Amino acid sequence: MDSASGGPSDPNSVGGEAPPATGSTTTASASSPPAPPSRYESQKRRDWNTFLQYLKNHKPPLTLARCSGAHVIEFLKYLDQFGKTKVHNSGCPFFGHPNPPAPCACPLKQAWGSLDALIGRLRAAYEENGGRPESNPFGARAVRIYLREVREGQAKARGIPYEKKKRKRPSTVTIAGNVSVGPSSTAQEGGDAGAGAGGSDGGQSGQTTTSAAAVTTTTAAV
Ligand SMILES: [Zn+2]
Repeated sequence: MDSASGGPSDPNSVGGEAPPATGSTTTASASSPPAPPSRYESQKRRDWNTFLQYLKNHKPPLTLARCSGAHVIEFLKYLDQFGKTKVHNSGCPFFGHPNPPAPCACPLKQAWGSLDALIGRLRAAYEENGGRPESNPFGARAVRIYLREVREGQAKARGIPYEKKKRKRPSTVTIAGNVSVGPSSTAQEGGDAGAGAGGSDGGQSGQTTTSAAAVTTTTAAV
């Protein structure tokens, strides 16, 4: 978040988060059917290009080869400025309220589900572009820990148990696609990978059932 602010050319394409959501929409069911694999592929390509662009604009200069999990986290934090998901501060009266009755000044951020799905796509893209699994910064332990913290923090702040997503997988299509492209051992680790896969199509399909994800499901790519 700190140093890099060159700005990718199309930040909105990342994470598939671009609806004019208020952050409190409950089932704003994005209405589109589960995305076909090709959509996942194209989203993945867009995300990858955005990340490369981010590296290019990075100060100080950063190459993919030198990219670490810490840089990935920095990238995710940088993306928060383009987020559309209201995340209440602990001091906000609406902290923990899934459907606040009024607006507040809390920041908009990238929803955890968007970030998790984004990381899944970038992790796959990294290896598809010649990166070795063992040096994949998107699979770094620090990144997983960061995502878990985001998930837990947002669940508290927004009163939304993200875990519920896992039970309601809309379609196995995207899940299978995600898993298959990330054969590295990290893909199997923890339930996170599976949960992320649910929204791995970039939120395009709007299948995520919790309001948390629904907020971020529609994408500019429609
Ligand atoms: Zn608030």
